[in-house]
Amino acid sequence: MFSQNNQALFDRAKEVLPGGVNSPVRAFISVGGTPYFAVRAKGSRIWDEAGTEYVDYVQSYGASILGHADPQVVAAVKAAADLGTTFGAPTKHEVELAELIVGWVPGLEMIRMTSSGTEAVMSAIRLARGATGRDKIVKFAGCYHGHADALLVAGGSGVANQGLVGSAGVTEAAVADTVVGPYNVVPTLDTDTAVLVIEPVAANMGLVEPEPGFLQACRDECDRVGALLLFDEVITGFRLGRGGATSWAGVTPDIWAFGKVIGGGLPVGVFGASRGVMANVAPLGPVYQGGTLSGNPLATAAGLAALGQLSDDRFAELATKAERLALGLTQAFAGAGVPAQVPRVGSLVGLFFANEAVRNYDDAKEAAERGLFPAFFHGMLQRGFAFAPGPYEAIFPSLAHSNEDIDRTIEAAAEVATALR
Ligand SMILES: *Cc1c(COP(=O)(O)O)cnc(C)c1O
Repeated sequence: MFSQNNQALFDRAKEVLPGGVNSPVRAFISVGGTPYFAVRAKGSRIWDEAGTEYVDYVQSYGASILGHADPQVVAAVKAAADLGTTFGAPTKHEVELAELIVGWVPGLEMIRMTSSGTEAVMSAIRLARGATGRDKIVKFAGCYHGHADALLVAGGSGVANQGLVGSAGVTEAAVADTVVGPYNVVPTLDTDTAVLVIEPVAANMGLVEPEPGFLQACRDECDRVGALLLFDEVITGFRLGRGGATSWAGVTPDIWAFGKVIGGGLPVGVFGASRGVMANVAPLGPVYQGGTLSGNPLATAAGLAALGQLSDDRFAELATKAERLALGLTQAFAGAGVPAQVPRVGSLVGLFFANEAVRNYDDAKEAAERGLFPAFFHGMLQRGFAFAPGPYEAIFPSLAHSNEDIDRTIEAAAEVATALR
C-alpha cells in the first residue's frame, strides 16, 4: 500500500514535473526512496496517498507553526475567499498585518509584502543596493536566502541536499558582487559593501547558533563602513518570539526579510526597514518592486489569524516542547552510543551526527558526510515520524505537537539509533 500509491503517483509526476516535484528537496534525493504524497494534514499529523499517518516535523518547513489546518486560520481563509481572492487594489487586511508586524519588531517601521521568502530577500537586496548606491553583497556559507541568482552561492539547505555548490544558469556576472565567508567569523567589509545578509540563527545548514557577540560584531562592522545589515528572518521571524531574532539577539539590523510563519501557511513574504530606508521603495523612491498577488487577501487573512494567536505564552509553550524533543533525542542517541548533536534555539531544533557542536557550514558538511542521516530518516518514517528529507534541514515542532507525540518520537528515535550503531 505505502509504496504502491505513492510510487504510482511519483512515476506519473516524474513525467510532467522535473524530479516529480515543485521544490527539489521534496524529491528525497539526499535520503533516497519514494516521497510520500500528502493528501491532508491536521495539527501534528499528515496523511499520504496510501493512508499512512505520520507525526510531521516538516510542517511546511516551519510555516505551520500552529500545526496543520488550524481552525482559526482555515475559517479566516474561507471567509476571505468568499469575498474575492485577489483584487489588484489595496485592502484593510494588508494594513492590519503590516501594523501588527511593525508593532512586534523593534526598529522595523514599514514593510512591503511579497508572495515568497525568495522575493522578500531578493527585493531587500535591491533595496540595500539602491539605498547605498553600492553593489557588493556579503553572505555566509550555508545560509539560504531563497533562489535569487545573486544569493545562490554556498546556499545550504535545498542546494546542499542536491550536492550542488551553486546553480547552473547563474551567470558569473550575477554573483561577481557576492562575497561568501564562514558563519560565526566576522567578515572584514569595505566601503563597496552594500549589505551583509545573514540568517541570525542559521537554520538551513541544520541549526547553527550564532556565537555570543557575533551578531553585534556584524552590526559594528557594517556601521564601520556604512554597509546595511540584513536579517533574513524567513525562519526565525515569529518562531523565536514576537520580536523574532532581533529581540532574541538584542541586535537591530537595517533591513529585515520574513516569510514562512507570517503567511499562516499561505504564500507570503515581507521585507521592511526604517521609514528612511523604505522611502527608497517605489512609489516613494527609485527602487522598483511590486507583484500582482502581493498582499493577497487569502494570505493576509491567514497571516493575521496565525500571528494573532502567537502570544508570549504560546511561544514559551512551543519552546518547552522543542526542549523536550531536543533533550529526549540527545538522550536517545547517547543511550545508543551514536555521536549526535541536537542543538535548540527557541522552538527550532537541529540534528547533526557529530561529536562536537557545529559552528559553520564546513562542520555541518562533515557531519552530513558521515552518512547516517538517510538511515535515521527512513527508520523514523517507517515508524510514522516525518522529518524533512535532508541532513541540512531543521526540525520544526508545532504548537499542535502534544507531549505524547514528542515522547513517542523519542522512543522511536532510540530504536532507530540502536539500529544505526
Ligand atoms: C525558506 C527560506 C527562504 C526562501 O523562502 P521561500 O518562501 O521558499 O521562497 C529565504 N530565507 C530563508 C532563511 C529561508 O529559510
